[in-house]
Amino acid sequence: MLYDNLDTTGGRLIFAGADTVALAEKYGTPLYLMDEEKIRANCRAYRTALDACVCPGSSAIYASKACSFAGIYKIIAEEGLGADVVSAGEIYTAKKAGFPMERAYFQGNNKTDADIRFAIDAGVGYFVCDNFEEIDALDRIAEEAGIKQKILIRVTPGIDPHTYAAVATGKVDSKFGIAVETGQALEAARLAVSKKNLVFEGIHCHVGSMVFDSDVFIRAADVMLGLMAEIKNKLGHELKILDLGGGYGVGYYDGQGKIDIPANIRAVAEHVGEAAKRLGIETPSLRLEPGRSIVADAGITLYTVGSVKKITGYKNYVSIDGGMTDNPRYALYQSKYTVVTANKTDAKDTITADLVGRCCESGDIVQPEVSFPADIARGDTVAVLTTGAYNYSMASNYNRIPRPPIVMISNGADRLAVKRESLDDLILNDII
Ligand SMILES: *Cc1c(COP(=O)(O)O)cnc(C)c1O
Repeated sequence: MLYDNLDTTGGRLIFAGADTVALAEKYGTPLYLMDEEKIRANCRAYRTALDACVCPGSSAIYASKACSFAGIYKIIAEEGLGADVVSAGEIYTAKKAGFPMERAYFQGNNKTDADIRFAIDAGVGYFVCDNFEEIDALDRIAEEAGIKQKILIRVTPGIDPHTYAAVATGKVDSKFGIAVETGQALEAARLAVSKKNLVFEGIHCHVGSMVFDSDVFIRAADVMLGLMAEIKNKLGHELKILDLGGGYGVGYYDGQGKIDIPANIRAVAEHVGEAAKRLGIETPSLRLEPGRSIVADAGITLYTVGSVKKITGYKNYVSIDGGMTDNPRYALYQSKYTVVTANKTDAKDTITADLVGRCCESGDIVQPEVSFPADIARGDTVAVLTTGAYNYSMASNYNRIPRPPIVMISNGADRLAVKRESLDDLILNDII
């Protein structure tokens, strides 16, 4: 099947060695399942490649917006990765889980003064400064706190990860970061160097998501290294860190692109080493910020079928007990997924139907035109694969639907990692 943690025996879907139909019965549905060994293996692929690469001191930082809950920060900490955090909520969760906050990188294009104070109090290792205002505010608040804050500056190198056509200006107009092409990134660097309470250590970029082209990071690195050389030559300031962001793609369906991440990391690092030498700057240490490629293939979602509606001469719908509240990605971006009827994997005859959720919203589609067993019926268990990233973390309470639990599977044993929200949780903040 799509990944090596998926299998079928006796007509049932097995995930991470566990029978999904039995888990659906035990915990109820909708249910997120996560495979701990897969998360750890994905972390190790990055760590091993970065530890061995030619850029000394390189490391991976998990972009925790992909899936954020206490248990995941513990796993990430144990595997030696850092964590990107983008809000007080993610900082609070990481800290409560005991994450070593000196390995946390605070991202985001609009950090309020309150966010900045909160992050400094929490001991966040790095701020990734997104704009001039943030550099000013952070310097002021760091002074009040009596600390020197380490920072990277986020810049936009003008790389479009998916086309060559618009390379020069394609991504300069982003809401994130400061443009290299316009000279503003150099000006931000000048401002940072002038600040007494900031320690300006490197530059950051994040060119996009679902990258399968092997040279995207190399093209971005070239622009970034050029800026590092300019900062050295014009400002006399040598930087130590080159953060190339996240974005490696994962397969959501058979036949989708594939990228060999360790091989790509090796190639990027070698290129960076050679280019730094040519430019006369120190070889920087690399940071990569994988989110999706750490957790996506470590997660699936289970649902129970409610109605099967066959509109003769038109189309068919299979309704499930979840939907856009636990997986909004088709509604948001028409994302593709692989769907398996977990208790009928041997079915020969099939029908085509849209897999739809239970929300009062026609756009509540999890996946259109799915092939189901011809006898699909109320009570069957449906699995949507590759839901470990940007599902739980994007879930909502629309229609006052409680969010599903996360069950972690580790060496064949299952345990609750996040409880199912209760009806009382839903009214917790309501003044009655
Ligand atoms: C979202 C994001 C990432 C992670 O991207 P993936 O595609 O999930 O790997 C990394 N860095 C930054 C700054 C991001 O915004």
